[in-house]
Amino acid sequence: MQVKKDIVHYAKMLEKNGLVVGTAGNISVKIGDTMYITPSALPYEEMEEQDILEVDLVSGDVIAGKRKPSSETPMHSYIYKHNSRIKAIVHTHSTYATMFACAHLPIPIVHYTAADIGNEIAVAPYARYGSEELALHAVNTLGDNNGVLLANHGVIAVGETLKDAFRRAEAIEEVAHLAYGAHQLNSVKPLGPKDLAEAVEGFKTYVSG
Ligand SMILES: [Zn+2]
Repeated sequence: MQVKKDIVHYAKMLEKNGLVVGTAGNISVKIGDTMYITPSALPYEEMEEQDILEVDLVSGDVIAGKRKPSSETPMHSYIYKHNSRIKAIVHTHSTYATMFACAHLPIPIVHYTAADIGNEIAVAPYARYGSEELALHAVNTLGDNNGVLLANHGVIAVGETLKDAFRRAEAIEEVAHLAYGAHQLNSVKPLGPKDLAEAVEGFKTYVSG
């Protein structure tokens, strides 16, 4: 099944590209009323197509797959149910972005690639991992943007395709790293409102190669 193949491909890329350590993070895709999601606690290098679970978004039941679904399954389902434009979610604990999340600081938009995320990369208030409250905070803080930080936890990147959501998870980490570096240089210079608005507009028609 293509969607399961894609999820496994990007799940392995999460680890390869240094966006997760160990079994942290998870990926899902929504097709119709079905959510396809990575399993809980399975090392990425061992993950195969048959390990991806199918969850009915209406009933919340696992309809296919033998493993335990990701502990963040309630958060993924809640996001899909409350924001119909979202068809794919990538969740990571990538280091630099999570440093901002732990400091409760939005990531300054110091590089134009962050415009792919939208006007801001804000921090959703803390709630326990796996809780519905965390999902609610994520949805509320995300708004129309394509990425959000979860306080003292990590990163959510979303998109209409898994490719978009994954690219954004990488962009969030990259911009967090750059912003951290700029801070070390004692000169954080975020894009001004006009330049940011132009870049955001540009990304609306961006087609990844
Ligand atoms: Zn997490």
